[in-house]
Amino acid sequence: VAAEPLLRVDDLRVDYRGVVAVGGVSLRVAEGQCVAVIGANGAGKTSLLRAVGGFVPAGAGSRVELAGVDLTRMPAHRRVRAGLGSVLENRHLFPHMTVRDNLELGAAAAPGRSGAGLRGALSLLPELEGLLDRRAATLSGGQQQFVAIGRALATEPRLLLLDEPTNGLAPRLVERVIEIVRHLRAAGTATLLVEQRLEVAVAITAEVHVLAHGRVVHSTDGDTADLARIAHSAYLS
Ligand code: ATP
Repeated sequence: VAAEPLLRVDDLRVDYRGVVAVGGVSLRVAEGQCVAVIGANGAGKTSLLRAVGGFVPAGAGSRVELAGVDLTRMPAHRRVRAGLGSVLENRHLFPHMTVRDNLELGAAAAPGRSGAGLRGALSLLPELEGLLDRRAATLSGGQQQFVAIGRALATEPRLLLLDEPTNGLAPRLVERVIEIVRHLRAAGTATLLVEQRLEVAVAITAEVHVLAHGRVVHSTDGDTADLARIAHSAYLS
């Protein structure tokens, strides 16, 4: 018998006063698996991720479940305690606080874990060690992205939501983010990654869904012909 998926998203809908951003998306992420959702600007990727994280409400009939627990109507902070870590598009760091405080707030957002969250985050992100006493606002965009990832990891998530984590980063840092997500998976943390660039997604995972106009229009597990078809489709432009 196949194991129950860790994350189940069923018929997820998001609309903004009648504008449909996500029009019924279903997907699964298994324990320790990384699943990527790619799509053009405005395809609904951010709305999908935000609805899973509880930052925008999901529409009627939607269901989001983590490890068998129904999260659909749960506020975002309780989803964190349930094991969902988020790295959102604008990072939402506390700009006037130090990196250390930002990370500690992450750890405090999920009390009752092993307490190894902060140390675990720093061991995966050694580049943060030298920045701990800096205020977040003084960091470069790339450094802030690592802090945002570190803060989410400090909650010791079972599943990490990543919204375009390589967006705006220099190529060297894009490589580094790819490496971090690979390490995470090797360490057993599942991820749901939203990404605009197919090449970044496939550098991390073979499990890719293509979103267009709020719907999954293509799914692949890395089949070469599938990927070629996606790369040459209009879905990504
Ligand atoms: P991006 O790559 O720019 O983040 P995306 O694929 O993440 O794009 P969304 O940001 O989820 O797409 O947007 C999906 C649709 O919902 C778009 O048509 C967008 O204009 C619309 N939308 C997003 N946020 C809002 C909002 N707060 N109010 C109204 N419409 C919105």
